[in-house]
Amino acid sequence: MYNCGPTVYDWQHIGNLYAYLVADFWRRTFELLGYRVTQVMNVTDVGHIVGDADEGEDKMALGAQREHTDPQTLATMYTEQFFVDRHRLNILDPHVVSKATDHIPQMIRLIGRLIDTGHAYVASDGVYFDVTTFPGYGTRLNAELPEERMAGARIEVNPNKRDPHDFALWRRAKPGDLQQWDSPWGRGNPGWHIECSAMSMHYLGDTFDLHSGGEDHLFPHHECEIAQSEGATGKPFVRFWMHNRFLRVDSTKMAKSAGGFHRLSDLESWGFDPLAFRLLALGTSYRKGLEFTREGLAGAQARLERWRGLLAEARQATPPAANAQDDPLRAKFVEAIADDFNTPRALAAAEDAVAMLASPERGDRARALGLLFDMDRVLGLGLREQAERAGQVDPEAIAVLAERERARAAGDYKRSDELREELRRRGYLVKDTKEGQRWERVKSGAPKGSGEAGAEKREVS
Ligand code: AMP
Ligand code: ZN
Repeated sequence: MYNCGPTVYDWQHIGNLYAYLVADFWRRTFELLGYRVTQVMNVTDVGHIVGDADEGEDKMALGAQREHTDPQTLATMYTEQFFVDRHRLNILDPHVVSKATDHIPQMIRLIGRLIDTGHAYVASDGVYFDVTTFPGYGTRLNAELPEERMAGARIEVNPNKRDPHDFALWRRAKPGDLQQWDSPWGRGNPGWHIECSAMSMHYLGDTFDLHSGGEDHLFPHHECEIAQSEGATGKPFVRFWMHNRFLRVDSTKMAKSAGGFHRLSDLESWGFDPLAFRLLALGTSYRKGLEFTREGLAGAQARLERWRGLLAEARQATPPAANAQDDPLRAKFVEAIADDFNTPRALAAAEDAVAMLASPERGDRARALGLLFDMDRVLGLGLREQAERAGQVDPEAIAVLAERERARAAGDYKRSDELREELRRRGYLVKDTKEGQRWERVKSGAPKGSGEAGAEKREVS
């Protein structure tokens, strides 16, 4: 699969991150079902013009200007930040991350092929794709060519184009262009659409299974990719096109250009766990998109904490059962995600397993653990790691706990209190019960007001 990646001229907002979460759900679903997945994602570090247009300023140039730096430094920094956010959301790394500026030769070759096959022509300011040579241009993914997005509606018709729908494959460098390369058509830089055609076919072949992006890519980006790739190879380009609807705040598109968007770090500064955002995204279908509200996020966080608390307690009582593969509840989960990635229905199956975690029967709890750890291969909420961690005490704390137990047995309550204080400093709250010491590990970074739910509990005898 090929996921259209970020334009690394600014922070990625939670809307962008939602698109990559969704792609991660798909990849994990395929892997759970036994498919071998090769996931390629590009990083656009040149050629994406503001407004997805042919003329105007390159977003990278704009960002570099804004931050008083060069496009390459800008790209490196925002790519790194993007991966920090991805990792916080447990989004798996693609097998290939391809930077546009590393693939200029592939783009030049593809443009050459389009000229040779008569699909492209050289004009004074660059190379254009001639849409009249590709019947059905603009209507392969869209019912009709979206007229309102036609050239001329928003921007001046370029007299160098034969048809206003024609789109740029190569732009001749303008004085002061920070990014430019040699080509048979003069120094310049590539169009945004040719990048994705060239890189996806380079890594995945002329025809591949799945290509994704947000709904804004339905036109022009993906229609242009189809015209370029199929025009050049004469073969079908992509078997399945997948588009997520947008994450919306107050029902409007969250665009980077509109400013005021939320970043993942904003959610964290409000006290939320990034994985609560992941759980929120699982609660809706990619076909509907996500109506983002703080209340919704708070609900997801409460749900995640409830799950974690129950998982930790169950895990302290029993290891997970090993035969989750044959469980009818797993079948229900798989049936849901295999049905057009119906994550809300899959979550309902997971919730059935969570309910079983509280069962008085140890066997039920083991079964529920086995199921949830398996389902988490798709959910990606770190449930196993979290539950296993909750069952562990670091070795130094174990020694202190043991010393305190001895002090109590010897009736040395002054020492016992000192050691309780010592444990508190190490992040363990100790209580004495009839059965012996009990501890709770107080996680650092637990959101304010999460109280008991943010702590991990365990009995130590
Ligand atoms: P960009 O960096 O603008 O090229 O966007 C990166 C990805 O995020 C693309 O697949 C976009 O379609 C997608 N995207 C942009 N805005 C949103 C949004 N509000 N909700 C969901 N996906 C989005
Ligand atoms: Zn793309």
